[in-house]
Amino acid sequence: MVVLPKELFKHCYGTYAIAAVNVFTMEQVHGLFRAGIKADAPFLVQITPVARNYAHSLMLIAMIDAASKIYPNVVYAVHLDHGNEAHAINAIASNKYHSVMIDASHDDFETNVKRTRLIVDEAHKKGIFVEAELGVLSGVEDDISIDEENASYTSPNEVVSFVERTNCDSLAVAVGTSHGAYKFSSGQGIQFHILEEIQQKLPGFPIVLHGGSAVNTTEVERINKAGGMLNENASGVTPEEIIKSIPFGVCKINIATDTRLLWSRVHREFFLDSPELFDPIVPGKTYMDAYETFMVQKFDLLGATGKATTLHKKYKK
Ligand SMILES: [Zn+2]
Repeated sequence: MVVLPKELFKHCYGTYAIAAVNVFTMEQVHGLFRAGIKADAPFLVQITPVARNYAHSLMLIAMIDAASKIYPNVVYAVHLDHGNEAHAINAIASNKYHSVMIDASHDDFETNVKRTRLIVDEAHKKGIFVEAELGVLSGVEDDISIDEENASYTSPNEVVSFVERTNCDSLAVAVGTSHGAYKFSSGQGIQFHILEEIQQKLPGFPIVLHGGSAVNTTEVERINKAGGMLNENASGVTPEEIIKSIPFGVCKINIATDTRLLWSRVHREFFLDSPELFDPIVPGKTYMDAYETFMVQKFDLLGATGKATTLHKKYKK
């Protein structure tokens, strides 16, 4: 069952967070929906422009629709991650997305306001939720790569004006998380004083953290042991930081890198351990199971376990 992001965030604000998970493949959709059932946790399923290029938007939406029938008790909504105008307008017109992100965070403040406002006006005609971004995250996401020197934290002094002028519904902030596997090379982590200041300026307003993967060192070591060459200094957001961020109004935490690492680990180990096998359904099944287990743990960390039933009762027509 779909529960709109506005309701999800109203329900979780300050007490737990909604995992927003990027999917590219059928195995990931199964793994995510199964975990949602097992943990009884609501979630957002996210589609990026690169995923749409890879699998096609129609294919991804059809898989999500199918999953909602296979797993009818899930509580979820569909979100477009990191869209530009063309992606967002297309997603709004399709009537298949409940929420879109317009990412104009790399532009100057005035241009960001203007570009965001345009999408908000279109989306709100259909009751679609809009996530905007202020501040620039470092790292690699889709085809965007930002060096650390070009990244900048969200300025708390700009958030009220930005939200008022754009009329956006949630705000992705740059407070020390980054995209991709090579996070925090400067070792600073989440800047809680900035997060706190943002919450003081925007009390009750949903805040979004991008780059919410943990980048588990054991996973990286296992990938390298099975032939990978990932940087073992890679690290992500610690579980403690995630837990600490939630009372500051962080309602949505984006997760992509961890599920890619998991894919790499499962498949590398499979080919190393079973050189005589070549059937995609064998590692595919292992990946689905591992994905489910991983997401069940993630829901638990975010405090979302058991919340789907409550939402079900509240919003069932
Ligand atoms: Zn992102």
